[in-house]
Amino acid sequence: MFDKILIANRGEIALRVIRACREMGIGSVAVHSTADADAMHVRMADESVCIGPPPGTQSYLSVPGIISACEITGAQAIHPGYGFLSENANFVQIVEDHQLTFIGPSAEHIRIMGDKITAKETMKKLGVPCVPGSDGGVPDLESARRIAAEIGYPVIIKATAGGGGRGMKLAKTEGDLERAFQTARAESKAAFGNDEVYIEKYLTTPRHIEVQVFGDGKGRAVHLGERDCSLQRRHQKVLEEAPGPSITPEQRARIGKTCADAVAAIGYSGAGTIEFLYENDEFYFIEMNTRLQVEHPVTEAIFGVDLVREQIRVAAGLPMEFQQETLAIRGHAIEVRINAEKLPNFSPSPGRITQYHAPGGLGVRIDSALYDGYRIPPYYDSLIGKLIVHGRDRPEALARLSRAMGELIVDGVDTTIPLFEALLQEEAVQTGGYNIHWLEHWLETHMG
Ligand code: ADP
Repeated sequence: MFDKILIANRGEIALRVIRACREMGIGSVAVHSTADADAMHVRMADESVCIGPPPGTQSYLSVPGIISACEITGAQAIHPGYGFLSENANFVQIVEDHQLTFIGPSAEHIRIMGDKITAKETMKKLGVPCVPGSDGGVPDLESARRIAAEIGYPVIIKATAGGGGRGMKLAKTEGDLERAFQTARAESKAAFGNDEVYIEKYLTTPRHIEVQVFGDGKGRAVHLGERDCSLQRRHQKVLEEAPGPSITPEQRARIGKTCADAVAAIGYSGAGTIEFLYENDEFYFIEMNTRLQVEHPVTEAIFGVDLVREQIRVAAGLPMEFQQETLAIRGHAIEVRINAEKLPNFSPSPGRITQYHAPGGLGVRIDSALYDGYRIPPYYDSLIGKLIVHGRDRPEALARLSRAMGELIVDGVDTTIPLFEALLQEEAVQTGGYNIHWLEHWLETHMG
C-alpha cells in the first residue's frame, strides 16, 4: 500500500480523498494555488505544496507543478478527484513515466472513453445499447442532412470532445439543421480544439440514468446499481438520487450486468460511470466517465461502501473487495449540489462566508470545504458543498432532506439552497416523476 498520496484537486472532493487516506493510515499531500492558501483541503492534509497562481491552467492543471510536488514530498500516487486532470490521458502517461501511480483507469481507457464517438463505437461492440444516430463523425452539412433525415427529427449535434454539458446543439426540424451543425462545430473547435461532431436522435422525455461500475483491471468487474440524475439545468446535474425511482430490480440487474460485463471485457480498472438516457423502458448509452463522479455519495450511502478506499486499494494492486453477490441496496439516498450562485440566473456568487452551520443527525452527510470566514475565490467551479441524505425509503429520504436543509446555514454569499427548498414542494419531485427537461420548464415558469 502507498505511504503517501497527493490529491491533484481542491474543494470538497480533495477533502473526500484526504478523509479516505486518513482512515487507511496513508499520508496526504494537498496541492494548491496562491488563491487557496487558506482553503480547507490545505488545512486538512498532512502536507501541502503551493503549485502556482490562481488560474486553474497555472495551478491545478499544471502537470510539472503536480509532478514536482510528488517529488518534493515523496508521494507515490496521485488521486485526481473529478474535473481538472481526472480524464486527461496524457497526464496519466506522464504520471506513469515518472514511476508514480495514477489512481484511476489506464491512459488507454481514458482516451477511448474521452472521445465520445470512439466510446460509442466501443460500447456498441460490447453489447451496450446506444442512442440511434450517425456511425461516427459527420464531416459536412450534406452528410448531416442525410443522416438526420434517416433517423428523423428532432436531432442533437454533439461534439466528440464535449463535456460538462457543452458542445451540444438541438435541431428540431430540417430548417434548424444548418445553424445547429455549424455552431456545434465552431463552439466545439473553440472550447475543445476539435470540431468533430456526431448526430443523435434527440429523445424528448428521457430520464438520465447512470450505472456505477468498478473493475479490478484484471478482467473482473461489478456494478453498483444506478443513479437518477434527471434534474438538470443546461445539461448539468442539480440533484441526484439512488436507486432510480423508475427502475425495477429486474431492469437494474439486466443493465447492471451489461455494464459490468462490458468493462470487465476491456480490463477496466477502478471506478467508472456509464451514462444512459432512459425512455419507454429502454436504455440508450450516451457516454462513459472514467473517474469518480460528483454524485458518488448516493451510491456509497445505499451500498454502505467507500468508493475512494476501493479506488486506492485497486490502484495499489490489491484485489477488489467488491463482489456482485454481496453488494446489496439498503434504502434510498438523495444528493443536492449547493452552488455559490445567485438565482434566478445562476450567476457565480463568490465572497466571504460570514456564517456556516452544517446539518447533522441520522442519515445526513455533508461534503463541503466551507468554514466560517472562508472566502470563496472567484476562479473555480461554483460547487461549494453537497448535502446527501439516506433513508429507509424515498419518502423518508425526502423528509430528511427537507429537515437537513432547514438546519443548514450558509450566509454571506448567494447559494442554490432556496432552489431546493422550492423544488421539495413540487409534486413531480415528491413522486419522482420527472424527466431531463422538467427542471428547465419549471425554471421558466417559476424564475423566468
Ligand atoms: P456531457 O459530457 O457534456 O455531460 P452527455 O452526453 O453526458 O454530455 O449529455 C449530457 C446531457 O445532455 C444528458 O444528461 C441529457 O440531458 C442531454 N442529452 C445528451 N444527449 C441527448 C439526446 N440524444 N437526447 C436528449 N438529450 C440528450
